[in-house]
Amino acid sequence: MADIIQLLPDNIANQIAAGEVIQRPASAVKELLENAADAGATEIKLLVTDAGKALVQVIDNGKGMSETDARMAFERHATSKIRNIDDLFHIRTMGFRGEALASIAAVAQVSVKTRRPEDELGTLLEIENSEVLKQEPCACAAGTNISMKNLFFNVPARRNFLKSNAAEMRHIVDEFVRVAMAFPGIFFSLTHNGQEVFHLEAGNHKQRVIQVLGNSYQTKLVSVKEDTDYMNIHGFVGKPDTARKTRGDQYFFVNNRFIKSAYLNHAVNSAFEGMIAKDSFPGYVLYIDLDPSQVDINVHPTKQEIKFEDEKIIYAFVQAAVKHALAQFSIAPSLDFTLNPEIQGLDAVSKPFTEEKKDAAVSSSLYKTFTQKNQAHFIERSEKQSGELKHWREFFTPQDAGRDVQKSVPGLPAQAQLQTETGSSFSKEGLRVLPDSPLLQLHNTYIIASTNSGFLLVHQQLAHERILYERYGVAAHGQSAATQQSLFPVMLETTASDAALLSELIPDLQMIGYQVEPFGNNSFVIQGIPADVLPGNEKHSIELLLEQFKHFSSDIKFSRREKLVRCMARQQAIKAGQALTQKEMLALVEELFTCQTSNVTPTGSPTYLEFKEDYLDRMFGK
Ligand code: ADP
Ligand code: MG
Repeated sequence: MADIIQLLPDNIANQIAAGEVIQRPASAVKELLENAADAGATEIKLLVTDAGKALVQVIDNGKGMSETDARMAFERHATSKIRNIDDLFHIRTMGFRGEALASIAAVAQVSVKTRRPEDELGTLLEIENSEVLKQEPCACAAGTNISMKNLFFNVPARRNFLKSNAAEMRHIVDEFVRVAMAFPGIFFSLTHNGQEVFHLEAGNHKQRVIQVLGNSYQTKLVSVKEDTDYMNIHGFVGKPDTARKTRGDQYFFVNNRFIKSAYLNHAVNSAFEGMIAKDSFPGYVLYIDLDPSQVDINVHPTKQEIKFEDEKIIYAFVQAAVKHALAQFSIAPSLDFTLNPEIQGLDAVSKPFTEEKKDAAVSSSLYKTFTQKNQAHFIERSEKQSGELKHWREFFTPQDAGRDVQKSVPGLPAQAQLQTETGSSFSKEGLRVLPDSPLLQLHNTYIIASTNSGFLLVHQQLAHERILYERYGVAAHGQSAATQQSLFPVMLETTASDAALLSELIPDLQMIGYQVEPFGNNSFVIQGIPADVLPGNEKHSIELLLEQFKHFSSDIKFSRREKLVRCMARQQAIKAGQALTQKEMLALVEELFTCQTSNVTPTGSPTYLEFKEDYLDRMFGK
């Protein structure tokens, strides 16, 4: 038998290696922008076509390359940034692995024009599939102009893995924004299909952050700044009242490199503990600088994950710096506290949380009101809570007699309507809720309803989630849901990546009753909202929807619309902890039993438990 091992041809080996660095158009964007920044450019323009699938082009006015360097740059492990292993521990440049250009040239058609300012003529180079097709002198501007066309033209399997243009564009915007925030002194622009999406004049960090996150941040940022011998931190956190339901605006830069770190994220969140609601996220843009020898950036091919020599110190430092900043600006409760003494005396408020304390505090109802109100007492009166309350009332007040509830509720399954009209709205599978006996609410969460054979314990939130799920579901699959036009259209500013997602969702949102229109520059106008979302809650409701949708979005079991319907139902459901009147409880229970499936939520939690008399009897030994 012949021997079977062969060396892979260079171009195939390169394609495989490229997979680590270049996964999608956005990976090329990141690498090319970083190269331009490393080259000392003061102006960097990014142009993309078809979300980068057709073209990613970066034009910089940096130091350019000589003819030989231009050719060398595309060899694997060719870099001007380190010479020996020691250099790796003093890295101040973004690149150093010498892989990016080689990878890009292995999986796309690349052309470069580059000229050093001191040279008269520049170089034109065309490479595809790792092969140089053309190399010749050319007249061009000083700096580098590099185009990557038809990514994965020679690896169709990987091209097929690319997502929709909207999704790929979201990734590109994410990468663009990260590099732009790291280098506020550089002018950046991003043009997509001929339209300029970002135009960021050079400025300081604060100006750049506001350019990127939106003008509304102008008055909402608290500066963070601490310098020590070991490390420095500077940047901004959003005031607690700007905490959002979406995780969007959270950025960490270590030595100017954007990194993802759940650990450091936790440090910031913990500094906000007690100041924002549990399910919301503080915005922040924080820049940490420390001796490069204290960080290992080489643990990940795209360098987004790094290792710290001493993680715990960094954690404590970040947490303390943010706490300090919040306290200085009189935002921390310890400094600006005008709560009533009863709440103030609560351990949960006055002392840092330990686990036991947390348990004890959570079970106290005072704590509940406290956290649920987003601690608005001392920050800013939140309209959200009272808004939801009103919404809940409005939802129920039109129904004088419980029986009529379905008439005011569009989109109920026809079958359910029928069942109601035959007078058995309260019964399901042999179960009969006694219509005349009063309902009892327990802990503002459970409703006890007597039945012919025992009683039901209904979970108000889960039950309502089921009801809304069916209502929105009908809307999403039939004609669109009723929309209430906003009297004053509401502006919504989002992060760039949320903007891309929202644009993608607009048609589906319309089906469930939202009218949202793009307004350019990551802004949207909300023209209308579903009939049962309370006006005034437009922004919050869409932000929440986006956040929930993102959590869902890796789930391929469900269509986009199904995901939206599920998110909406969860979001709009009346919450546990909400006091209900008799009428409201009645309507809720009644409507639950008109659902096609009444006993579980869309995710499978029970909506009610049934306790039968004979079972109860047995429990009492009778
Ligand atoms: P790395 O950035 O890790 O060194 P790359 O493959 O990204 O590796 O780039 C290889 C080399 O090409 C760089 O080290 C640099 O010398 C040169 N280079 C790349 N892009 C540019 C640019 N825009 N301007 C000047 N030189 C560049
Ligand atoms: Mg590079």
